[in-house]
Parts: sequence; structure tokens; C-alpha cells
Amino acid sequence: MDIFIWERSLRRTTLFGTDSENFSRLENIKSDMDTQLEKVLIIGNGAAGMEAASRIREKNKTVEITIFTEEPYHFYSRIHLSTFIGDNSSAEDITIYPKSWYEKNNIQVFLHTSVVKVNPLEKFVIDGTWKKHGYDKLIIATGAYPFVPPIQGVELKGVFTLRNLQDALRIKKFMKNCKDAVIIGGGILGIEAAASLNKNDLAVTVIELAGFIMPQQLNQEGALALQKILEKRGINFRTSARVQIFEGESALKSILVNENEHIATQMAILSIGISPNIGLAKEAGIQSNRGIVVNNNMQTNFKDIYAVGDVAEINGTIYGIWPAAVDQGLVAADHILGLSPTYRGSLPLHILKVAGLELTTFGQKNIIHRNEHEVIYHNPADDQFAKIIHDGEYILGAIILGIPGIGFRLERLLKKKKPITDYLSYFEKGDWNILKRKK
Ligand SMILES: Cc1cc2nc3c(=O)[nH]c(=O)nc-3n(C[C@H](O)[C@H](O)[C@H](O)COP(=O)(O)OP(=O)(O)OC[C@H]3O[C@@H](n4cnc5c(N)ncnc54)[C@H](O)[C@@H]3O)c2cc1C
Repeated sequence: MDIFIWERSLRRTTLFGTDSENFSRLENIKSDMDTQLEKVLIIGNGAAGMEAASRIREKNKTVEITIFTEEPYHFYSRIHLSTFIGDNSSAEDITIYPKSWYEKNNIQVFLHTSVVKVNPLEKFVIDGTWKKHGYDKLIIATGAYPFVPPIQGVELKGVFTLRNLQDALRIKKFMKNCKDAVIIGGGILGIEAAASLNKNDLAVTVIELAGFIMPQQLNQEGALALQKILEKRGINFRTSARVQIFEGESALKSILVNENEHIATQMAILSIGISPNIGLAKEAGIQSNRGIVVNNNMQTNFKDIYAVGDVAEINGTIYGIWPAAVDQGLVAADHILGLSPTYRGSLPLHILKVAGLELTTFGQKNIIHRNEHEVIYHNPADDQFAKIIHDGEYILGAIILGIPGIGFRLERLLKKKKPITDYLSYFEKGDWNILKRKK
């Protein structure tokens, strides 16, 4: 599994760039902060926390960096868990930074160790063993947990959520004795999980409340094109469908959907959204809404406390995607290092990780303003669908399904702010491969 290439392709994808891209300037900076900075604590060992840690260490060889994580693992690829459940890879295969990386970089990591209290006034945290750890700067990168709706029977054996490696290992083991499964939530994660179970010969049904699957990323036509491809692989779908009850005594036997449909199943995976892990912050008086509220430097209302990744809320938005976690970790790190970086938002880029199926979506999926236009192409015979939104000069967003190598090329045009004017007449004729021919 090519984890590293995948992750690298998602790194530093800020939509409009960050001011901290002038990295070379950093070498010359000897700010007050450099001399005062002795100890950085990071709560969370995911993409956001790790980007911050590696960035700080890259630029400051002496500052003490300590990371806490509730999980018993070193940094691994969370985004690969949905494919991990259905393949033969091991935990090592999805590990990004093994133990040796932390040792080499002189970063102390406490695995399996929760932080249970933050004291922002006296600048220390308390871990689950009641040890006190002081800090100069604290980064809260506690991520999110899967939303579990208060539906009758949700606690039954066989009902799972998928957020961490332990969840994935539990699912991997349990599914071996199952013939069928229901995925609740037809978002990107739910579709990936459905494909993984289907690959292992389980009869899979996806239940989606909205009228079509992946409603956050796709329009209806694109969603139906994707659904058709997946149906050909044997996955069943119920859209506009609501789960009412998980039925069974101690273990799941069936699911009541809508008014009177009972779907027999031994297992279900809930995949209906996330809730940021803000408990610690709230208790400490750190300003929080749905996420921890931060400014453009990723600082909270306490100037020495930063929040990054899925837990952070910036201008009312919680991104909930890997590239944003990385971008935000980088901004917090650079701010701690004495630069003045500004986080200006990350491109909502989604790549479906289902073998043999290429789907990329980014940016706008519909026309919002009067000066915007769309090009739509649908070739059901070849399972191809494409839609782009543009303003006559630049691309603003795209959905590209089943046309290999085009999605990321279009995304690059957006990021590099290159005009698409020369390509438009080709796109209108359904010739997307022009992007491969023209350099
Ligand atoms: C199955 C799956 C597939 C995904 N696929 C994609 C994808 O294809 N593309 C994409 O962009 N995004 C994807 N995502 C989302 C992406 O993984 C997240 O946006 C990203 O991992 C967020 O990183 P983070 O560092 O903010 O949080 P996390 O990676 O969740 O890390 C948070 C860490 O904090 C630790 N923690 C929490 N509370 C405490 C505490 N009190 N004390 C100590 N430690 C604590 C947790 O144990 C965890 O290790 C996927 C997510 C999942 C679950």
C-alpha cells in the first residue's frame, strides 16, 4: 500500500497558500519567541499534531516536544482505515512514523495516555496518571469522534463506528463471521467501508438519509452514476431512508428502516458524521462552539494555546479533512516558531479510495454566483461522469468520476491559479484527456 505517496499528495494543500510558505526566511529569524521557547506540549498524535511536531523539530532542534495520545499506536494513516478493514494489510503497513522516528527526532510520546485537564492560567496539563506537565506552548489536536445517534439498540453487539485503528481491528475480526452488513451513512467514508466489506463477499446495504449518496461532495447526477457502478459490484442502496431501530436481544439481528422495512444483518457501521473532541478545552474555559474557536494563526482565546485539525473551528468552519489538519498544524507550528503565518482555508478535496474506481471532487459542486458556468459530461456506457464549475477563466470546482488522471490535474490548475479558457471547448465535447496531451 503506497501510504506515503498518498499522504504526501495531500500535504500542504491550502487553497490560497499560507504566509508560512516563505520557509527560507525562517532560518534568519531569531525572534524573542525562539529564546523563550523551551517546551511544547501537543495533545493528539494525528495528522494535525504530527505536522506541528515535525515542523517545530525541523526548525528548532532544541525545544522539548512532548506528545500525548489516547491511542496505543504511533502515527498512522487514519484515512486508510476504511480500506484497511477490507484488505490484508497490518498495522505496520499503515504506520507513517514508527517509534524510531520519534527517537531520531528527540520527540517524547506518551502512548495510551489521555490528557485529562488543562490549566491555561498556570500553563500545565494533567495526564491520566495524574502527572503534571508544564508548557510554554500547548497545541490541542484531539481530533473528533464519530457521532452516534440516540437510536434504540445502538449499543447492540455488531454495531460499530470507525475512527481509529482499534475500531478497524475490531471490525476486521468481527466481519470474518458475517455474511452481511449495513453501512449507515452514504458519505465518502461509508462508501469506502461498504466497498471494503463487499470486496470480502459480504452482502452490503448502504442506508442514506439524503436523496442521493455523498451529498456533501456530489450532485444528484454524479451520485447516481457512482451508485450504478457500485450496484454493479453488488452493493445495495437505500436513499431517503431513516434508521428507526437496531433490532436484536444482545446482538444485532436486523434494522428497521423507515416505517416497515426490516433489513436482516449481523453487523452495522455507523458513519454519519463527527463531533470534535472539545471536552478538555471547554472545561478549561477555552472558547468553543462545535469546535475550539481559533483565529487565523490557530490560536485560541489563550494566546499560548493553539487548536488544529478536526477539533478546530475557524470562521465557523470545521474542515474534518486530512489536508486541512496538515495545513493548520503547519500554521500553528510556524506561529510558535515566531513567524506570522495566516491560515486562509483549505481546499475541500476528496478522493474516493475504492479499488478500480477513480472519483475526485474538490471546490464548488454547484453554481453559486451569476457569473459562473458549468460543464457536465455523462457517459453511462463507460461509467464516466464529469462536472466542472468555472467563471469563464478559472475552475472553481469539479466532480470527476471514471476518467483517470483528470481530477488531480484540474485541482492543480485551481491551486496554481492557471486559467482553463483554452480547455473549455474540449471539455464541452467530452475531451477531458486534453489535459494529459497539453503540458
Ligand atoms: C476511516 C476514515 C477515513 C477518512 N478518509 C479521509 C480521506 O480520504 N480524506 C481526508 O481528507 N480525510 C479523511 N478522513 C478524515 C481525516 O482522517 C481527519 O480529518 C484527520 O485525521 C484529522 O486529523 P487530526 O489530527 O485533527 O485528528 P485525529 O487524526 O483524530 O487525531 C486526534 C488524536 O488525538 C488523540 N486524543 C484525543 N483526545 C485526547 C486526550 N484527551 N488525550 C490524549 N490524546 C487525545 C486521539 O487519540 C487521536 O490520536 C478520514 C477519517 C476516517 C476515520
